[in-house]
Amino acid sequence: MKYEPVIGLEVHAQLLTESKIFCGCSTKFGQEPNQNTCPVCAGFPGVLPVLNRRVVEFAIKAGLATHCEIARSSILARKNYFYPDLPKGYQISQYELPVCIGGYIDVDIDGTQKRVRLTRIHMEEDAGKNIHDAHGDASLVDLNRAGVPLLEIVSEPDMRTAAEAGAYLRTLRQILQYLEVCDGNMEEGSFRCDANVSIRPAGSEILGTKIEIKNLNSFRAVERAIKFEIDRQIDTLSDGGTLIQETRLWDENREETRSMRSKESAHDYRYFPDPDLLPLIIDDTWTDEVRVTLPELPATRKQRFAAEYTLPAYDAELLTARKDVADYFEAAVKVHPNAKALSNWIVGDLFRVLKERKLDDQLYISHWPVAAAHLAQLVQMIDHGKITGKIAKTVFEAMLDSNKPPQQIVGETGLEQVSDTGSIETAIDQVLASNPKQLAQYQSGNEKVFGYFVGQVMKATQGRANPQKLNEILREKLKTSVRQ
Ligand code: ADP
Ligand code: ZN
Ligand code: MG
Repeated sequence: MKYEPVIGLEVHAQLLTESKIFCGCSTKFGQEPNQNTCPVCAGFPGVLPVLNRRVVEFAIKAGLATHCEIARSSILARKNYFYPDLPKGYQISQYELPVCIGGYIDVDIDGTQKRVRLTRIHMEEDAGKNIHDAHGDASLVDLNRAGVPLLEIVSEPDMRTAAEAGAYLRTLRQILQYLEVCDGNMEEGSFRCDANVSIRPAGSEILGTKIEIKNLNSFRAVERAIKFEIDRQIDTLSDGGTLIQETRLWDENREETRSMRSKESAHDYRYFPDPDLLPLIIDDTWTDEVRVTLPELPATRKQRFAAEYTLPAYDAELLTARKDVADYFEAAVKVHPNAKALSNWIVGDLFRVLKERKLDDQLYISHWPVAAAHLAQLVQMIDHGKITGKIAKTVFEAMLDSNKPPQQIVGETGLEQVSDTGSIETAIDQVLASNPKQLAQYQSGNEKVFGYFVGQVMKATQGRANPQKLNEILREKLKTSVRQ
């Protein structure tokens, strides 16, 4: 029998707010344990939560960017369970009436668009962290993360392959990063994904038994785990076995999933509306206020880059992968409108520097190694024949961190292009005079020696000779020398 895989993803995105969702504690990462705590997030009795307005704004942003309906009225609910990292004994989340409903994300899969529908986006608080191996037999609890705001983004079971799931996840992360609501760091856990996988006979409309996979800490892990799970389920059914609904853990080292617990269902959590929090009312004015702050989103920006700057799709893709890079490019192209040359410098030289300095995995670069305007001026100097492309590479290196415009560096180091005919002629004469053997070869018909002479003249002028003039004059000189 032929089976069709069915995949739906649940993503938890940690929000980039300064303070927690229901108290004023800092969300700052890497503090001493239990330093970012107060009676509210530590779950003391008798305290009252106050919803952080910023969290709602971020939820609206995410909802608008993914075509959701923003609920005019939604409810914060208690999800009850016991665990040492959850001091209240319940997590404040949303259940029946989430803040964003429906929506979709268009995902590019090898050049074709696939629409993945969203079920919902809701707000909730994160739990604390249990630390097991630091203190002998004892386990320790750190509540710094308790109450840090999350968005949970739930997709419909619309994906059919591990690659589609990976592409959906990357697109979603890119949107949240563009919105600057989440830094998208999977390794550090600020962007987490649970994958739901089932299989069904090809052609069937009925969903199969769902297995949920947890502990996916990278895009690679998500794709590998889904592939593994699809194969495991097909093998089980093909061997006459049955599947049970359960939660499985991805084991990164052994590259397999293994059973963690049979799946609990919603009624186990005894969800009910939190009596300490009023229904959340979002009027159209608020939604409209947030709407005008939305940036141009990656897919639109990519298309516009290709059209407006006549860039190849590949360049447009690379330049818009991050919002800060796209902003950088547009700042540069305003100064000097040679889009393709700027693109080459950015995706080549600049990306190399970012990578070397590990800046490429930062969410947003505010201090660039080279200012956008300076890079534009560098390209302008090449285009205006002030410096050669080769010299420009040297100037670029000198510009790093100096915050000096290229004109200044060129002036200080005497790297201007030599264009005056006199000095180029002198250099050529010297090169021809000191290479009689090569000259003789050229005269007897070996045209390849031409390149050798060009190289020698460039060397003599420290790479500063205007290449076009050099070529013209050299050709002329050699012609007369052949005639002689
Ligand atoms: P639960 O109540 O267990 O949380 P939901 O129905 O809310 O389950 O779905 C959670 C996630 O699992 C969603 O992303 C959804 O698309 C996905 N999902 C639901 N059923 C299936 C299935 N049979 N196969 C694969 N994914 C599924
Ligand atoms: Zn607190
Ligand atoms: Mg659910």
